[in-house]
Amino acid sequence: MLLEDRVAGDRNVVGRLTAAYVIALTLIAILSGGVHLLLDNVISEQRDAATIINIAGRQRMLSQRISLLGNDLHQGDETARQPLRDAIALMRRSQDALVHGDDLGISNPLSPDASAHYFAGPSPLDARVRAFLDDAERFVETGDEASFRQFHLAARDTLLPALDRAVTIFENEANGRTHWLRQAQKVVLAILLTTLLAEAVFIFRPMVTRIRLYASRLFDLASRDSLTGLPNRRFLVDSGEAAVIQARRDGTELSCLLVDLDHFKAINDQHGHATGDAVLVRFAELAQTALRQGDMVGRTGGEEFVILLPGAGEAGALLVAEKLRAMLDADRSEGLPHFTASIGATTLAPGDRGLPDLFSRADAALYVAKGLGRNRVRFEAGQPVARDQAMEMA
Ligand code: GH3
Ligand code: MG
Ligand code: MG
Repeated sequence: MLLEDRVAGDRNVVGRLTAAYVIALTLIAILSGGVHLLLDNVISEQRDAATIINIAGRQRMLSQRISLLGNDLHQGDETARQPLRDAIALMRRSQDALVHGDDLGISNPLSPDASAHYFAGPSPLDARVRAFLDDAERFVETGDEASFRQFHLAARDTLLPALDRAVTIFENEANGRTHWLRQAQKVVLAILLTTLLAEAVFIFRPMVTRIRLYASRLFDLASRDSLTGLPNRRFLVDSGEAAVIQARRDGTELSCLLVDLDHFKAINDQHGHATGDAVLVRFAELAQTALRQGDMVGRTGGEEFVILLPGAGEAGALLVAEKLRAMLDADRSEGLPHFTASIGATTLAPGDRGLPDLFSRADAALYVAKGLGRNRVRFEAGQPVARDQAMEMA
Protein backbone atom coordinates (compact mmCIF):
# COMPACT_ATOMS: atom_id res chain seq x y z
CA MET A 1 0.00 0.00 0.00
CA LEU A 2 1.31 3.43 -0.88
CA LEU A 3 2.13 5.70 2.04
CA GLU A 4 -0.32 8.34 0.75
CA ASP A 5 -3.11 5.73 0.61
CA ARG A 6 -2.39 4.65 4.15
CA VAL A 7 -2.33 8.20 5.48
CA ALA A 8 -5.59 8.93 3.58
CA GLY A 9 -7.13 5.72 5.01
CA ASP A 10 -6.14 6.66 8.55
CA ARG A 11 -7.50 10.16 8.05
CA ASN A 12 -10.79 8.66 6.78
CA VAL A 13 -11.20 6.46 9.83
CA VAL A 14 -10.34 9.31 12.21
CA GLY A 15 -12.78 11.58 10.31
CA ARG A 16 -15.57 8.99 10.59
CA LEU A 17 -14.92 8.41 14.30
CA THR A 18 -14.91 12.16 14.95
CA ALA A 19 -18.19 12.59 13.04
CA ALA A 20 -19.79 9.72 14.98
CA TYR A 21 -18.53 11.20 18.23
CA VAL A 22 -19.94 14.65 17.40
CA ILE A 23 -23.30 13.11 16.38
CA ALA A 24 -23.48 11.09 19.62
CA LEU A 25 -22.63 14.16 21.70
CA THR A 26 -25.21 16.24 19.82
CA LEU A 27 -27.82 13.53 20.44
CA ILE A 28 -27.01 13.54 24.16
CA ALA A 29 -27.15 17.35 24.22
CA ILE A 30 -30.54 17.34 22.43
CA LEU A 31 -31.90 14.67 24.77
CA SER A 32 -30.66 16.56 27.82
CA GLY A 33 -32.23 19.78 26.50
CA GLY A 34 -35.47 17.87 25.79
CA VAL A 35 -35.53 16.44 29.31
CA HIS A 36 -34.98 19.92 30.73
CA LEU A 37 -37.87 21.39 28.71
CA LEU A 38 -40.08 18.43 29.56
CA LEU A 39 -39.39 18.79 33.27
CA ASP A 40 -39.92 22.53 33.10
CA ASN A 41 -43.26 22.03 31.39
CA VAL A 42 -44.37 19.28 33.75
CA ILE A 43 -43.38 21.30 36.82
CA SER A 44 -45.45 24.27 35.65
CA GLU A 45 -48.38 21.94 34.78
CA GLN A 46 -48.21 20.28 38.18
CA ARG A 47 -48.21 23.69 39.85
CA ASP A 48 -51.38 24.62 37.89
CA ALA A 49 -52.89 21.24 38.76
CA ALA A 50 -52.21 21.81 42.46
CA THR A 51 -53.85 25.27 42.26
CA ILE A 52 -56.87 23.84 40.44
CA ILE A 53 -57.29 20.99 42.96
CA ASN A 54 -56.99 23.50 45.77
CA ILE A 55 -59.66 25.82 44.32
CA ALA A 56 -61.98 22.92 43.47
CA GLY A 57 -61.62 21.67 47.07
CA ARG A 58 -62.36 25.16 48.38
CA GLN A 59 -65.59 25.23 46.33
CA ARG A 60 -66.81 22.26 48.36
CA MET A 61 -66.01 24.02 51.60
CA LEU A 62 -67.60 27.30 50.43
CA SER A 63 -70.82 25.55 49.41
CA GLN A 64 -71.15 24.17 52.95
CA ARG A 65 -70.26 27.52 54.54
CA ILE A 66 -72.85 29.33 52.45
CA SER A 67 -75.43 26.73 53.45
CA LEU A 68 -74.62 27.12 57.17
CA LEU A 69 -74.50 30.93 57.10
CA GLY A 70 -77.73 30.95 55.06
CA ASN A 71 -79.37 28.82 57.72
CA ASP A 72 -78.21 31.20 60.49
CA LEU A 73 -79.54 34.22 58.60
CA HIS A 74 -82.82 32.41 57.93
CA GLN A 75 -83.14 31.95 61.69
CA GLY A 76 -82.69 35.69 62.19
CA ASP A 77 -78.97 35.94 62.95
CA GLU A 78 -78.06 39.22 61.23
CA THR A 79 -74.32 38.76 61.90
CA ALA A 80 -74.32 36.02 59.26
CA ARG A 81 -75.35 38.39 56.43
CA GLN A 82 -71.97 39.96 55.57
CA PRO A 83 -69.92 36.75 55.88
CA LEU A 84 -72.52 35.10 53.66
CA ARG A 85 -72.12 37.82 51.03
CA ASP A 86 -68.31 37.41 51.17
CA ALA A 87 -68.53 33.64 50.82
CA ILE A 88 -70.85 33.97 47.81
CA ALA A 89 -68.50 36.47 46.14
CA LEU A 90 -65.46 34.26 46.77
CA MET A 91 -67.17 31.14 45.43
CA ARG A 92 -68.28 33.03 42.31
CA ARG A 93 -64.76 34.31 41.68
CA SER A 94 -63.32 30.87 42.22
CA GLN A 95 -65.82 29.37 39.80
CA ASP A 96 -64.81 31.88 37.11
CA ALA A 97 -61.16 31.08 37.72
CA LEU A 98 -61.76 27.34 37.45
CA VAL A 99 -63.69 27.34 34.21
CA HIS A 100 -62.15 30.28 32.34
CA GLY A 101 -58.74 30.72 33.94
CA ASP A 102 -57.76 34.06 35.40
CA ASP A 103 -55.39 35.86 37.70
CA LEU A 104 -55.53 33.10 40.31
CA GLY A 105 -52.65 31.50 38.48
CA ILE A 106 -54.44 28.97 36.28
CA SER A 107 -53.11 29.16 32.75
CA ASN A 108 -54.41 25.93 31.25
CA PRO A 109 -57.96 25.53 30.04
CA LEU A 110 -60.05 22.65 31.35
CA SER A 111 -59.34 19.16 30.02
CA PRO A 112 -62.11 17.52 27.92
CA ASP A 113 -63.17 15.40 30.93
CA ALA A 114 -63.36 18.34 33.29
CA SER A 115 -65.02 20.46 30.62
CA ALA A 116 -67.72 17.79 30.14
CA HIS A 117 -68.34 17.68 33.89
CA TYR A 118 -68.70 21.46 34.10
CA PHE A 119 -70.59 22.17 30.88
CA ALA A 120 -72.11 19.05 29.24
CA GLY A 121 -75.04 16.79 30.10
CA PRO A 122 -78.50 17.56 31.39
CA SER A 123 -77.32 19.32 34.58
CA PRO A 124 -73.81 20.68 34.10
CA LEU A 125 -71.89 21.59 37.29
CA ASP A 126 -71.12 25.15 36.23
CA ALA A 127 -74.82 25.92 35.72
CA ARG A 128 -75.66 24.30 39.08
CA VAL A 129 -73.00 26.26 40.94
CA ARG A 130 -74.17 29.50 39.37
CA ALA A 131 -77.86 28.71 40.13
CA PHE A 132 -76.83 27.89 43.73
CA LEU A 133 -74.97 31.20 44.03
CA ASP A 134 -77.85 33.14 42.40
CA ASP A 135 -80.35 31.60 44.85
CA ALA A 136 -78.08 32.34 47.82
CA GLU A 137 -77.59 35.91 46.66
CA ARG A 138 -81.29 36.45 46.08
CA PHE A 139 -81.98 35.18 49.60
CA VAL A 140 -79.37 37.48 51.15
CA GLU A 141 -80.60 40.52 49.30
CA THR A 142 -84.41 39.93 49.32
CA GLY A 143 -85.04 37.23 51.93
CA ASP A 144 -86.85 35.13 49.28
CA GLU A 145 -87.99 31.93 50.99
CA ALA A 146 -88.10 29.75 47.85
CA SER A 147 -84.53 30.73 46.96
CA PHE A 148 -83.40 29.81 50.48
CA ARG A 149 -84.96 26.36 50.24
CA GLN A 150 -83.45 25.71 46.85
CA PHE A 151 -79.84 26.55 47.65
CA HIS A 152 -80.10 24.97 51.10
CA LEU A 153 -81.30 21.63 49.61
CA ALA A 154 -78.79 21.78 46.76
CA ALA A 155 -75.90 22.25 49.22
CA ARG A 156 -77.10 19.33 51.29
CA ASP A 157 -78.04 16.78 48.62
CA THR A 158 -76.67 17.22 45.09
CA LEU A 159 -74.06 19.94 44.87
CA LEU A 160 -71.52 18.37 47.25
CA PRO A 161 -71.13 15.05 45.36
CA ALA A 162 -70.83 16.94 42.07
CA LEU A 163 -68.13 19.21 43.51
CA ASP A 164 -66.42 16.09 44.92
CA ARG A 165 -66.49 14.56 41.46
CA ALA A 166 -64.77 17.68 40.04
CA VAL A 167 -61.94 17.36 42.59
CA THR A 168 -61.56 13.65 41.73
CA ILE A 169 -61.33 14.46 38.00
CA PHE A 170 -58.58 17.05 38.63
CA GLU A 171 -56.70 14.66 40.93
CA ASN A 172 -56.86 11.82 38.38
CA GLU A 173 -55.54 14.09 35.68
CA ALA A 174 -52.58 15.13 37.85
CA ASN A 175 -51.85 11.47 38.66
CA GLY A 176 -52.07 10.56 34.96
CA ARG A 177 -49.56 13.26 34.11
CA THR A 178 -47.18 12.02 36.81
CA HIS A 179 -47.48 8.49 35.42
CA TRP A 180 -46.83 9.75 31.90
CA LEU A 181 -43.81 11.67 33.15
CA ARG A 182 -42.40 8.50 34.76
CA GLN A 183 -42.78 6.61 31.48
CA ALA A 184 -41.18 9.45 29.51
CA GLN A 185 -38.34 9.57 32.01
CA LYS A 186 -37.71 5.83 31.59
CA VAL A 187 -37.69 6.13 27.79
CA VAL A 188 -35.27 9.08 27.87
CA LEU A 189 -33.00 7.27 30.33
CA ALA A 190 -33.00 4.18 28.08
CA ILE A 191 -32.12 6.31 25.03
CA LEU A 192 -29.34 8.10 26.94
CA LEU A 193 -27.83 4.87 28.24
CA THR A 194 -28.07 3.23 24.80
CA THR A 195 -26.38 6.23 23.23
CA LEU A 196 -23.59 6.15 25.81
CA LEU A 197 -23.17 2.39 25.34
CA ALA A 198 -23.11 2.73 21.55
CA GLU A 199 -20.58 5.53 21.94
CA ALA A 200 -18.37 3.34 24.12
CA VAL A 201 -18.58 0.32 21.80
CA PHE A 202 -18.53 1.96 18.37
CA ILE A 203 -16.50 5.11 19.00
CA PHE A 204 -14.32 4.94 22.10
CA ARG A 205 -13.24 1.32 21.67
CA PRO A 206 -12.07 1.72 18.05
CA MET A 207 -10.51 5.07 19.00
CA VAL A 208 -8.54 3.51 21.84
CA THR A 209 -7.50 0.58 19.63
CA ARG A 210 -6.28 3.01 17.00
CA ILE A 211 -4.42 5.15 19.51
CA ARG A 212 -2.75 2.00 20.88
CA LEU A 213 -1.82 0.97 17.35
CA TYR A 214 -0.34 4.38 16.56
CA ALA A 215 1.52 4.43 19.88
CA SER A 216 3.08 1.02 19.26
CA ARG A 217 3.89 2.03 15.66
CA LEU A 218 5.57 5.19 16.90
CA PHE A 219 7.44 3.25 19.58
CA ASP A 220 8.64 0.77 16.95
CA LEU A 221 9.71 3.58 14.65
CA ALA A 222 11.61 5.25 17.46
CA SER A 223 13.25 2.17 18.91
CA ARG A 224 13.76 -0.37 16.12
CA ASP A 225 16.04 -0.62 13.15
CA SER A 226 13.79 -0.97 10.12
CA LEU A 227 16.07 -3.35 8.16
CA THR A 228 16.80 -6.01 10.76
CA GLY A 229 14.00 -5.33 13.23
CA LEU A 230 16.57 -5.22 16.03
CA PRO A 231 16.55 -2.51 18.72
CA ASN A 232 18.38 0.61 17.50
CA ARG A 233 21.21 2.51 19.17
CA ARG A 234 18.90 4.76 21.21
CA PHE A 235 16.90 1.82 22.60
CA LEU A 236 20.04 -0.17 23.29
CA VAL A 237 21.71 2.69 25.14
CA ASP A 238 18.60 3.14 27.31
CA SER A 239 18.48 -0.59 28.06
CA GLY A 240 22.25 -0.68 28.64
CA GLU A 241 22.10 2.14 31.17
CA ALA A 242 19.28 0.36 32.99
CA ALA A 243 21.30 -2.89 32.90
CA VAL A 244 24.36 -1.17 34.41
CA ILE A 245 22.27 0.26 37.26
CA GLN A 246 20.65 -3.14 37.85
CA ALA A 247 24.01 -4.97 37.86
CA ARG A 248 25.48 -2.47 40.33
CA ARG A 249 22.44 -2.71 42.57
CA ASP A 250 22.32 -6.54 42.53
CA GLY A 251 26.08 -7.01 42.58
CA THR A 252 25.85 -9.13 39.41
CA GLU A 253 28.02 -9.09 36.32
CA LEU A 254 27.29 -7.49 32.98
CA SER A 255 29.21 -8.08 29.75
CA CYS A 256 29.17 -6.28 26.44
CA LEU A 257 30.13 -7.49 22.98
CA LEU A 258 30.79 -5.14 20.08
CA VAL A 259 30.40 -6.99 16.79
CA ASP A 260 31.56 -5.60 13.42
CA LEU A 261 31.20 -7.54 10.18
CA ASP A 262 34.48 -8.06 8.38
CA HIS A 263 35.21 -6.50 4.99
CA PHE A 264 31.56 -5.59 4.64
CA LYS A 265 32.33 -2.90 2.15
CA ALA A 266 33.80 -5.58 -0.11
CA ILE A 267 30.61 -7.67 0.19
CA ASN A 268 28.59 -4.64 -0.91
CA ASP A 269 30.99 -3.95 -3.75
CA GLN A 270 31.14 -7.52 -5.03
CA HIS A 271 27.54 -8.67 -4.52
CA GLY A 272 25.54 -5.47 -4.43
CA HIS A 273 23.90 -3.45 -1.69
CA ALA A 274 20.81 -5.70 -1.56
CA THR A 275 22.94 -8.71 -0.78
CA GLY A 276 24.73 -6.62 1.85
CA ASP A 277 21.32 -5.92 3.39
CA ALA A 278 20.44 -9.62 3.32
CA VAL A 279 23.70 -10.38 5.14
CA LEU A 280 22.77 -7.87 7.86
CA VAL A 281 19.35 -9.51 8.23
CA ARG A 282 20.95 -12.96 8.37
CA PHE A 283 23.35 -11.75 11.02
CA ALA A 284 20.41 -10.52 13.12
CA GLU A 285 18.75 -13.95 12.85
CA LEU A 286 21.88 -15.82 13.86
CA ALA A 287 22.73 -13.47 16.71
CA GLN A 288 19.26 -13.92 18.17
CA THR A 289 19.56 -17.71 18.09
CA ALA A 290 22.98 -17.52 19.80
CA LEU A 291 21.62 -15.53 22.76
CA ARG A 292 19.76 -16.52 25.91
CA GLN A 293 16.59 -14.89 27.18
CA GLY A 294 17.49 -11.63 28.89
CA ASP A 295 20.44 -10.99 26.56
CA MET A 296 19.98 -8.17 24.12
CA VAL A 297 21.30 -7.42 20.65
CA GLY A 298 20.89 -4.12 18.84
CA ARG A 299 22.15 -2.53 15.64
CA THR A 300 24.20 0.53 16.54
CA GLY A 301 25.58 1.42 13.13
CA GLY A 302 25.88 0.23 9.51
CA GLU A 303 27.39 -3.23 10.09
CA GLU A 304 28.02 -2.79 13.75
CA PHE A 305 26.07 -4.44 16.55
CA VAL A 306 26.13 -4.39 20.35
CA ILE A 307 25.22 -7.36 22.52
CA LEU A 308 24.52 -6.96 26.25
CA LEU A 309 24.82 -10.03 28.46
CA PRO A 310 23.40 -9.42 31.96
CA GLY A 311 24.75 -11.92 34.51
CA ALA A 312 27.72 -12.93 32.31
CA GLY A 313 31.34 -12.39 33.38
CA GLU A 314 34.50 -12.78 31.29
CA ALA A 315 34.08 -16.52 30.79
CA GLY A 316 30.44 -16.23 29.82
CA ALA A 317 31.13 -13.30 27.47
CA LEU A 318 33.93 -15.20 25.73
CA LEU A 319 31.75 -18.28 25.43
CA VAL A 320 28.89 -16.39 23.75
CA ALA A 321 31.23 -14.34 21.55
CA GLU A 322 33.12 -17.40 20.35
CA LYS A 323 29.87 -19.30 19.78
CA LEU A 324 28.51 -16.45 17.67
CA ARG A 325 31.75 -15.97 15.76
CA ALA A 326 31.90 -19.69 14.91
CA MET A 327 28.23 -19.74 13.98
CA LEU A 328 28.70 -16.89 11.48
CA ASP A 329 31.83 -18.46 10.05
CA ALA A 330 30.05 -21.77 9.58
CA ASP A 331 26.88 -20.31 8.10
CA ARG A 332 26.20 -21.22 4.49
CA SER A 333 22.93 -19.58 3.55
CA GLU A 334 21.69 -19.95 0.03
CA GLY A 335 22.25 -16.84 -2.08
CA LEU A 336 24.48 -15.20 0.53
CA PRO A 337 28.26 -14.84 0.46
CA HIS A 338 30.34 -16.24 3.30
CA PHE A 339 30.83 -13.58 5.97
CA THR A 340 32.61 -13.29 9.29
CA ALA A 341 32.74 -10.84 12.16
CA SER A 342 35.24 -9.55 14.66
CA ILE A 343 34.11 -9.20 18.26
CA GLY A 344 35.42 -6.99 21.05
CA ALA A 345 34.28 -8.19 24.48
CA THR A 346 34.44 -6.74 27.97
CA THR A 347 32.80 -6.97 31.39
CA LEU A 348 31.60 -4.19 33.67
CA ALA A 349 34.37 -3.43 36.17
CA PRO A 350 34.27 -1.51 39.47
CA GLY A 351 36.40 1.22 37.89
CA ASP A 352 33.79 1.90 35.15
CA ARG A 353 31.77 5.09 35.48
CA GLY A 354 29.02 3.76 33.28
CA LEU A 355 27.95 2.42 29.93
CA PRO A 356 30.29 4.64 27.82
CA ASP A 357 33.32 3.05 29.55
CA LEU A 358 31.96 -0.37 28.70
CA PHE A 359 31.37 0.57 25.07
CA SER A 360 34.78 2.20 24.56
CA ARG A 361 36.63 -0.77 26.05
CA ALA A 362 34.70 -3.17 23.82
CA ASP A 363 35.57 -0.90 20.89
CA ALA A 364 39.24 -1.01 21.79
CA ALA A 365 39.10 -4.83 21.98
CA LEU A 366 37.36 -4.90 18.61
CA TYR A 367 40.07 -2.74 17.11
CA VAL A 368 42.68 -5.20 18.31
CA ALA A 369 40.67 -8.15 16.91
CA LYS A 370 40.55 -6.42 13.53
CA GLY A 371 44.27 -5.73 13.67
CA LEU A 372 45.02 -9.34 14.46
CA GLY A 373 43.42 -10.45 11.19
CA ARG A 374 39.64 -10.34 11.83
CA ASN A 375 37.21 -13.24 12.41
CA ARG A 376 38.25 -13.44 16.02
CA VAL A 377 37.26 -12.45 19.56
CA ARG A 378 39.30 -10.22 21.87
CA PHE A 379 38.51 -9.58 25.50
CA GLU A 380 39.67 -6.56 27.42
CA ALA A 381 39.25 -6.40 31.19
CA GLY A 382 38.39 -3.15 33.01
CA GLN A 383 39.93 -1.53 36.11
CA PRO A 384 39.49 -3.74 39.21
CA VAL A 385 38.94 -0.65 41.42
CA ALA A 386 37.45 2.77 40.82
CA ARG A 387 39.79 5.35 39.33
CA ASP A 388 39.51 7.68 42.34
CA GLN A 389 40.37 4.81 44.69
CA ALA A 390 43.31 3.78 42.45
CA MET A 391 44.68 7.32 42.58
CA GLU A 392 44.34 7.41 46.36
CA MET A 393 46.24 4.14 46.63
CA ALA A 394 49.05 5.38 44.35
P1 GH3 B 1 36.24 -3.89 8.39
O1 GH3 B 1 36.47 -5.32 8.15
O2 GH3 B 1 37.45 -3.14 8.77
O3 GH3 B 1 35.13 -3.67 9.33
O4 GH3 B 1 35.81 -3.28 6.99
P2 GH3 B 1 34.38 -2.97 6.51
O5 GH3 B 1 34.41 -2.89 5.04
O6 GH3 B 1 33.42 -3.89 7.09
O7 GH3 B 1 34.13 -1.56 7.14
P3 GH3 B 1 33.86 -0.17 6.51
O8 GH3 B 1 33.55 0.76 7.66
O9 GH3 B 1 34.98 0.23 5.62
O10 GH3 B 1 32.59 -0.36 5.63
C1 GH3 B 1 31.32 -0.52 6.14
C2 GH3 B 1 30.36 -0.57 5.01
O11 GH3 B 1 29.07 -0.91 5.42
C3 GH3 B 1 30.29 0.73 4.28
C4 GH3 B 1 28.80 0.99 4.12
O12 GH3 B 1 28.49 1.32 2.77
C5 GH3 B 1 28.19 -0.32 4.48
N1 GH3 B 1 26.88 -0.17 5.02
C6 GH3 B 1 26.52 0.61 6.09
N2 GH3 B 1 25.19 0.46 6.31
C7 GH3 B 1 24.73 -0.42 5.39
C8 GH3 B 1 23.41 -0.97 5.13
O13 GH3 B 1 22.40 -0.66 5.80
N3 GH3 B 1 23.30 -1.83 4.11
C9 GH3 B 1 24.38 -2.20 3.34
N4 GH3 B 1 24.18 -3.06 2.38
N5 GH3 B 1 25.59 -1.67 3.57
C10 GH3 B 1 25.79 -0.82 4.57
MG1 MG C 1 32.27 -0.82 10.89
MG1 MG D 1 33.21 -3.87 9.22
